[in-house]
Amino acid sequence: MMNWYYAEKGSQVGPISDDEFQSLVKKRTITPNTLVWNSTMKDWQKYGDVVKGGTSDAARLSSEATESSKNMTCVECGNTFPKDDMIQYGDSWVCARCKPVFVQKLKEGVNLPVAMEYAGFWIRFGAKIIDGIIISVINEMIEFAAGFVWISASNPSRTGISFLLQVAVTAAYTTFLLGRYGATIGKMACKLKVVTPEGEPISYLRAFARHFAEWLSALILFIGYIMAAFDEQKRSLHDRICDTRVVRK
Ligand SMILES: [Zn+2]
Repeated sequence: MMNWYYAEKGSQVGPISDDEFQSLVKKRTITPNTLVWNSTMKDWQKYGDVVKGGTSDAARLSSEATESSKNMTCVECGNTFPKDDMIQYGDSWVCARCKPVFVQKLKEGVNLPVAMEYAGFWIRFGAKIIDGIIISVINEMIEFAAGFVWISASNPSRTGISFLLQVAVTAAYTTFLLGRYGATIGKMACKLKVVTPEGEPISYLRAFARHFAEWLSALILFIGYIMAAFDEQKRSLHDRICDTRVVRK
């Protein structure tokens, strides 16, 4: 309900309701020359000017409101601009001047760990144990097939070949599965995946390099692995060297 005020003999009368106002108009207490005001008006006006419609303050105010809805606030600088001079990104509006900065931020944002859930130390440790068991079973099978069981375990040549075999099997197993599926069987079982910082699959070459970078992580008393527990993107040393991330699928 709108409240009206009107001027009578130099003093202000009101507030009165719309209905009362209209009845005073009928009684000619309020004439086209009476100064009137309501909360939608900027200034007091002659009633005659108000009823002319389009020129009334109320009408002008409402058109101003429409105008201001065409202006948006730039999310970068906080200034207001007409929509036509701005670009929209989702719910955000950016002015022409701030656009380069904003676009740059967006680009950087793509590399931010927004959508990826990095896998922590313990789940990766679990995956490693599974892989370790599988790799040792494969090794045993190859050694058995090669007739190693018939050679004395203390024979140095057996030990050397066995070691090389282990290295080769582990490298082949890891490189193939990471390059092909982004995960070893242990990682698949733990729903983990090795990806690029952008979340893309890694190449065979990167998988191969990463495997040998793991050697380094192991050689320094496994500190390279433990680093994952203290990194905000849960990167191990070999993840850092090869620029990879381990994420939950
Ligand atoms: Zn701006």
